[in-house]
Amino acid sequence: MILFEHVNKIYSNGFHALNDINLSINQGEFVAIIGLSGAGKSTLIRTINRMHDISSGKLLVNNIDVNTLKGKKLRNFRRKIGMIFQSFNLITRTTVIKNVLSANVPDLPLWRSILGIFPKKDWISALEALDKVGILNKAYSRVDQLSGGQQQRVALARTLAQNPKIILADEPVASLDPITAKQVMSDFKRINRDMNITVLINIHHVELALQYADRVIGIKNGNIIFDGSCDTVTKEVLNEIYGEKLEEEP
Ligand code: ADP
Repeated sequence: MILFEHVNKIYSNGFHALNDINLSINQGEFVAIIGLSGAGKSTLIRTINRMHDISSGKLLVNNIDVNTLKGKKLRNFRRKIGMIFQSFNLITRTTVIKNVLSANVPDLPLWRSILGIFPKKDWISALEALDKVGILNKAYSRVDQLSGGQQQRVALARTLAQNPKIILADEPVASLDPITAKQVMSDFKRINRDMNITVLINIHHVELALQYADRVIGIKNGNIIFDGSCDTVTKEVLNEIYGEKLEEEP
């Protein structure tokens, strides 16, 4: 479970990005976080794996007080939380399988990772992860020869190879065309359902959020102004979250 209690985030320049966040997310939920650019979506999910420190309040992930973690404990904690970015963050000039195998590099002795010698169990979990996202046949292709959607699947497979309990995804489909975006969203959905992995996605495509997530959290100016199941998201709720901007976009 992810639990926010009165969490605030104030950046070093004094900007108050999260304001008294109270939130509880159960294991296995698929949550879409929506809101205008600059609302605080990215800040919110990046506090969960401590990419950003909170300024006050309490943040618990599976009963671990995230802000007390240091050193090796913090590194081990982070490895159980997958992170997916809009820009895929892959090593593009090498093969798909090497990218997925790199998920476990921190666990390897230095000489093994330098020589690229990975244990058999890592190969098996890497190939299984590629199979789960439907690109096993691309295992030996170079990443830079793949489409954007395939590259995002490689990133997803790399995350799965870490055996995460939680996946945080920051605008994972923002740079994909609409059809590919749907395919990647359905990968997230399948992984969420079949593996009981909690998925938190920042997304500005409202329709995709409503189609694939179970729960929607609306953020405006660092405040949670809506939190409910997709079927309770009305036009009024969206107008509240997006204001006039939504009207402008057909
Ligand atoms: P979103 O993901 O909804 O677009 P962000 O969480 O990225 O929003 O940003 C929320 C607000 O915090 C924005 O106004 C942004 O300019 C500000 N912000 C983000 N990162 C920093 C930072 N490192 N220092 C100061 N302000 C920041």
